[in-house]
Amino acid sequence: MQTPVTTYLDDIYECCLDNRSGERADYIRELAEADPEPFAIALCTPDGTQYSAGDALREFTIQSISKPFAYALALRDRGFEAVNAAVDVEPSGDAFNEISLDEHTGRPENPMINIGALTTHALIGGPDASAAQRSALIVEGLSQFAGRELTVDEGACASELEDAWRNLALAALMRAAGKIEDDPDDVVLGYTRQCAVRVTVHDLSVMGMTLARGGVNPLTQERVVSPEIAQQVMAVMTSCGMYDAAGDWLSHVGIPAKSGVSGGILGALPGQVGIGTFSPRLDAFGNSVRGVQAFEQMSKDMGMHMMAIPAPTINAIGQHCRTADGSKLVALQGVLDFPTAEMALRRFAQIPPGSDDVIIDLTLVPSIAQAGAKMLLTGMRSLTAEGHGIVIVDPHQRLTAGEDQVTGLRRLDSRPRGALTAAEAPTG
Ligand code: GLU
Repeated sequence: MQTPVTTYLDDIYECCLDNRSGERADYIRELAEADPEPFAIALCTPDGTQYSAGDALREFTIQSISKPFAYALALRDRGFEAVNAAVDVEPSGDAFNEISLDEHTGRPENPMINIGALTTHALIGGPDASAAQRSALIVEGLSQFAGRELTVDEGACASELEDAWRNLALAALMRAAGKIEDDPDDVVLGYTRQCAVRVTVHDLSVMGMTLARGGVNPLTQERVVSPEIAQQVMAVMTSCGMYDAAGDWLSHVGIPAKSGVSGGILGALPGQVGIGTFSPRLDAFGNSVRGVQAFEQMSKDMGMHMMAIPAPTINAIGQHCRTADGSKLVALQGVLDFPTAEMALRRFAQIPPGSDDVIIDLTLVPSIAQAGAKMLLTGMRSLTAEGHGIVIVDPHQRLTAGEDQVTGLRRLDSRPRGALTAAEAPTG
């Protein structure tokens, strides 16, 4: 059987295909002359499964969609403090090629507009990187996000450089303000090459999924950036990724995204899916018309809006009882995040001080979120402070860090013999 996801994507493709409104970008010769007809959609799931519809193997230049990834690489190479000192994270409310600077600090408003992207570009590779090294590092970094070796469309790069005066002026302004230290010519050349990297919608979906998985590529399993960087990049994409339509996009689509003038859109829904679309005709804001339509439809049909209310939390306490040897058993179930860990802590708080063991069974816990782990460890520490011994039953190794914070913690792969049936008396 063909999975219904393929049929669903085909339906979305068919429904958007007839929409021929919008215009190609006209300020870069190669883009003005590009075939306006191609259209493609691709999805990538957390385990690296890929789906597509349309012309999914066609390559196009990544353009502005490179910006969030260059920002990620700058954060990787220079750290949050240095990058934040150079570029702000505020939506500009201006066109992508405006001189949008914070009036107090003089920093570019964000890394998704050209003046901010030129500045982040110059930070990649550290202070000693030459322009050529930086350029190579960017192609390598983008390739790590895509999980395959990407190449530069030198023709597209040359065509944009014929008329890159505005970007040169922006880079020169940043050099004059001391925000970049390199020769503005080198920065514009490197940045334009960065924008001319060739990708397909498959690549975009994998790059999006790499961010959405917290920095780990779903195809190669390589960690490209830290979870903190991936989160920061998706946050800035959410507020600034869709040109001057970011607010509209957030309310109608609600998927962190970035679009580019060649007609691509990349989406990254945390933990769930990476999405790539390509169609060259753009709306008045510079976003691909069919791409926006496809994203709107998918978000609506699949409840992909990041603010969609998740399914109700299940009761985290599967079972609590006293075992044959007098220990207390608390069996947890479901994903352990803030609300479920709070339930567990409330249950722990009902256990009176004493020297008996408390057995915490994690067998039915599929994963533990950061908040859940912190709260669980705190709860276990409180129980030991009240005299209890702690035993965790953790056959799937869900609790991976912080055990050393709990004195005398013991681990078991299965419940101890005689520990329980649902009918046993509840603990006091
Ligand atoms: N290379 C393009 C420029 O700098 C990218 C713009 C975009 O995609 O928004 O003008």
